[in-house]
Amino acid sequence: MTREVEVLVVGAGPAGLAAAAEATAAGARTLVVDAGEATGGQYYARPPGGSWDAGLPATVVAGARPELLDVRLRTAVWGAFGDAVALVTGEESELVRPRSLVLATGAAERALPIPGWDRPGVVAPGALQRLLKVARVVPTGGVVVAGSGPFLLAVAADLRRAGAEVRAVVERRARRDLMPLLWPAARSGIHRREALRFARALRGVPVRFDTEVAALEERGVRLSDGSRIEADVACVGHGFVPRLELASMLGLEHGPDGVRVDGSMRTSRPGVFAAGEATGVGGAPLAATEGRLAGQSAARHAGQTGSDEREQHLRRERSRLLAFAERLQAVYPVPPVLAYATPDTTICRCEGVLLAELGDAGDTGLPLEDARAAKARLRCGMGPCQGAMCLEAVSAATEGADGERRTPRVRPPLQPLTVGTVAAARTIAEDTAP
Ligand SMILES: Cc1cc2nc3c(=O)[nH]c(=O)nc-3n(C[C@H](O)[C@H](O)[C@H](O)COP(=O)(O)OP(=O)(O)OC[C@H]3O[C@@H](n4cnc5c(N)ncnc54)[C@H](O)[C@@H]3O)c2cc1C
Repeated sequence: MTREVEVLVVGAGPAGLAAAAEATAAGARTLVVDAGEATGGQYYARPPGGSWDAGLPATVVAGARPELLDVRLRTAVWGAFGDAVALVTGEESELVRPRSLVLATGAAERALPIPGWDRPGVVAPGALQRLLKVARVVPTGGVVVAGSGPFLLAVAADLRRAGAEVRAVVERRARRDLMPLLWPAARSGIHRREALRFARALRGVPVRFDTEVAALEERGVRLSDGSRIEADVACVGHGFVPRLELASMLGLEHGPDGVRVDGSMRTSRPGVFAAGEATGVGGAPLAATEGRLAGQSAARHAGQTGSDEREQHLRRERSRLLAFAERLQAVYPVPPVLAYATPDTTICRCEGVLLAELGDAGDTGLPLEDARAAKARLRCGMGPCQGAMCLEAVSAATEGADGERRTPRVRPPLQPLTVGTVAAARTIAEDTAP
């Protein structure tokens, strides 16, 4: 059986679900797909089961018309071919040609290579938080949460509430650097409540400002001032990077900080819209507002009518939240990706490639002129993570004399597939043509 797809939304996080709610409210038949096992994306990550909207706030799900909405989980987009998008669920693959496409693919954690980051017991904050939220796994022993950004406080607070022993939070920014955030956070209801929640949960936990992680050692973290904190689990993160593989495959204009969009969330390609952290990292409320705008625009493009007044309201809300996100980015600048790496630090963890090896190609003695050469000769980016963890570092390590970073082209499939799955791709595009 085939179905008409007016709007296809990729990603069921706050941005994607808000886009779907808005598009169906405007009368567009909408399919939402997500590779995960539950809706909610990263911010509202939860165990699988239950209805698609259970427990999610009105800002994300209000207004959705269930009769026009189909939410498919465990379904990933693995490629884009012209205006068709290839989906896979288990072994089943199909091609969909939507009238409007909304990319709400979110962000991934920025993992900087630090000596010892490949040791057992070292984990990214988002990964630890996900274990907590989805599998209810609480780490045993002492935990140090380190790196930079407000997300460290969120994770430390969640760990504490779950009963974990948080020994310290280590933040590379000095306390005075964070002052520009005080007044805007105090004036914003959402951010004020969040800050108070962190403060309550972290009462008694030492926070070391102006301190960086120098190395991750056995059962402990070595800090930039030479001191060491004993810990069984080191949780180290430096913020997020937008997930841009699909945007890149679709040929959308983008930079490392996200897909370029206008005020209505239109991308450089007609009929394709983007929202949430795929367009820049800014938090869940901003993602949901952008999703609403993208849903409106996608429904209009698919032939439905929208409310100009509502769009203006959403645009104003977006500007307000963007201003706060920009302040956050200014207060927490990201250190250069190789700031902490030494020659014998592993850069590509899947293939075990050290920073020193990226200076030349081993046996051949030839310089590696860019990340594409590193992929071809040293297999950087060809392991299970497909470059998600190492591409930025490999590109920086192989940067040309002109300062340009050339990266391998993103090609389908975006995830490993069997040949049988690809061959059996069922085209529903013809059946759904208007
Ligand atoms: C690990 C992690 C934890 C985070 N925790 C917090 C937190 O506690 N507090 C906070 O303020 N912010 C957190 N963030 C930031 C957070 O991402 C945003 O604030 C918010 O969730 C962004 O919403 P979004 O809808 O843009 O993206 P997301 O919530 O990331 O949702 C994107 C969805 O797209 C799906 N997807 C991506 N590519 C494909 C594809 N090819 N096919 C199918 N599905 C796809 C993903 O499975 C995901 O569910 C976290 C980010 C990460 C990476």
